[in-house]
Amino acid sequence: MSSISKSKYNSDRLILVCNDDGIFSPGIRALAEVAKEFGEVAVIAPDRQQSAVGHAITVSDPLRVTPFQINSRMEGQAVNGTPADCVKLGHGNLMKRKPDLVLSGINHGSNAGINILYSGTVSAATEGTILGYPSIAVSCTEFSDSADLSGSQEATRRAIRYVLEQGLPAGITLNVNAPAGPLKGLRWAKQANSRYVEEFEGRVDPRNKPYFWITGRLEILDKGDDLDLNLLKKGYATITPIQYDLTAHIFYRNQGKELE
Ligand code: MN
Repeated sequence: MSSISKSKYNSDRLILVCNDDGIFSPGIRALAEVAKEFGEVAVIAPDRQQSAVGHAITVSDPLRVTPFQINSRMEGQAVNGTPADCVKLGHGNLMKRKPDLVLSGINHGSNAGINILYSGTVSAATEGTILGYPSIAVSCTEFSDSADLSGSQEATRRAIRYVLEQGLPAGITLNVNAPAGPLKGLRWAKQANSRYVEEFEGRVDPRNKPYFWITGRLEILDKGDDLDLNLLKKGYATITPIQYDLTAHIFYRNQGKELE
């Protein structure tokens, strides 16, 4: 990796940066800082918390865009929509030209295992892939706004270098997860089979009506040191190639042409 000098990466490359925690999130600033090492950055992100909206898009309401100061050197655009809306609107309307790379994150909270499916952060990257751009999602396993994102940032650098050097096949998105703190190592990993258990806590409101609040804990269903959730437990960051083609190909191949 170090055989290519940093200056080679500093080009007129244009990088779209999105997330699902909203444009106020410390994670998106941390990601934009890394992105800046590789080119010009356009931050286009939801104007509010949009975690776990998955790949939702807005179809019945207008989308409005507001300039937003990311830090003293960077301005972004806040959108009153979902992460996938932001990427669609970014590439079609809000950027001066098409992006060369789409980055989403750094999410506060793991997007490993089954979280991939619920995640708005991963879906923003997936939308980038659908639109034909190399795309990477990055998440830190710690929810706290004050989490040390240095390891997530270093994992992001490595993933970006990989994509710039090797490219990505059509339809493939890279999903990176990292523990808080310095990077111990970045391992290729598979999505762990997992699910939430004890998902809702029932309570009664002051007007005596029951309500439910999602809680739950993530249960890992497979063992294996090649699985994202297990590697994260051991302190490693993980990089998982994922795809939006949800066809069960092996099952499909075993069927005939017609079901009679
Ligand atoms: Mn989030």
